[in-house]
Amino acid sequence: MQNRTYIKDLKEHVGETVTIAGFVSVRRDQGKMVFFDFRDMTGSVQGVVLPKSDAIETAKEVTRESAVSIVGIVNKRPEKNINAEVQNGDIELEVKEISAVNRAAALPFEVMEDTSGINEETRLQFRYLDLRSERMQKNLHLRSEFVRRCREFLFKEQFTEIETPLLTESTPEGSRDFVVPSRLHPGKFYALPQSPQQYKQLLMTAGFEKYFQIARAVRDEDLRADRGFEHTQIDIEASFVDQEEVMSLVERMITAVVESMGFRVKEKPFPRFTYKEAIERFGDDKFDLRTPEEKEQGILAYAWVYRFPFFEKTDDGKWTFTHNPFSRVIPEHEEKLRNKEDIPNILTAQYDIVGNGYEAGGGSIREHDPELLTKAYEIMGFSEEEIEERIGHMRKAFSFGAPPHGGIALGVERFIMNFTGETHLREVQAFPMTRGGQTAVMKAPKELTSEQLRELGIEIAKKKEQ
Ligand code: ASP
Repeated sequence: MQNRTYIKDLKEHVGETVTIAGFVSVRRDQGKMVFFDFRDMTGSVQGVVLPKSDAIETAKEVTRESAVSIVGIVNKRPEKNINAEVQNGDIELEVKEISAVNRAAALPFEVMEDTSGINEETRLQFRYLDLRSERMQKNLHLRSEFVRRCREFLFKEQFTEIETPLLTESTPEGSRDFVVPSRLHPGKFYALPQSPQQYKQLLMTAGFEKYFQIARAVRDEDLRADRGFEHTQIDIEASFVDQEEVMSLVERMITAVVESMGFRVKEKPFPRFTYKEAIERFGDDKFDLRTPEEKEQGILAYAWVYRFPFFEKTDDGKWTFTHNPFSRVIPEHEEKLRNKEDIPNILTAQYDIVGNGYEAGGGSIREHDPELLTKAYEIMGFSEEEIEERIGHMRKAFSFGAPPHGGIALGVERFIMNFTGETHLREVQAFPMTRGGQTAVMKAPKELTSEQLRELGIEIAKKKEQ
């Protein structure tokens, strides 16, 4: 909008006629006069429509949360009306004209207050209103800041941002896949990525050496407060690095980013615990190192957990990977893996970062030797044909001089939850799902038309009773 003045800058225009644009937060009709609070993305200001103003008729009709543009004069408030506590508490806008009014209908809930107490389905149905609340605005701005600073840090460290496909093959990451049917290949399915794990390793094979991506990870998992179907990772991979180098890079990034955002980190360098120590000491590999006072003060406590067992038993007595099938064993245990012996005690070069009790990220040095990668799959009970089917393409790629490499993925939402003290993932995502797995605002998952199904070669076996 031309000639628009942002509300945060109004104090520099005392005595002038300005145009602002924004929303109506508050309207107090006092009969002859009408008072408003207007807000835009930069702040709030009080407006007053005087009795004889041309705007008085419109002022009486404008509802809260309407979008408006306002022409008015910026006045200093009389001494007795100054409110030093609030932004623009010493000025007000004398409204001359209210135009471009898009009047808001009756609101389903009080938008400007903390909406955390409002019924979840209602909040998500009207997410665009929910997001207008101060708390949600703050959370999403903070998220953007965090991602921006991580990006800038990584660019400074010579990383290249590369996108990897969304339509891909199922990754053996341990969760269920969301699958997408193919029109061109009826009866066949893509999977949405549980993470860019294989592609980032292929990028290392491709010689990029330092890759990152702000990647969406999609997993069909049981929904919990701190877990949704979709989350965002700062996904990092580098070549010719050892565990120490990856951990130190990540630690430098986290420290630089969170401190530059004004937060305090409890302990630097981040304390490190082997998995065994963590279990002995905390009974868990996720733990909160903060004292009650530190929690009060919003201090962040990060720690590393490393030297995890590579394998664990499944319910049916087979071996499976604890974290990532592409991880490397620690160098001292290479022979154990090669000989497939002492399996429960084989440790992997996996490292997790814990932040205020949450697993805030995890990564590993990867196995770039096709033979050792095969051994890990053999331990997990796969036949040569099955291994070839699952990871034949990775073994082949690694056979062409793949560099040693390793990386990590950090969960963006978990970081923002720690910054804000939010305990639900949905409070730091713009359009999260409901607890029941329904999208915000729109109505997915939804049935397809019979024509769409025909085109995809899909028949629905049995409709679930609603
Ligand atoms: N791909 C892993 C995950 O999503 C992270 C990593 O090892 O880089 O958990």
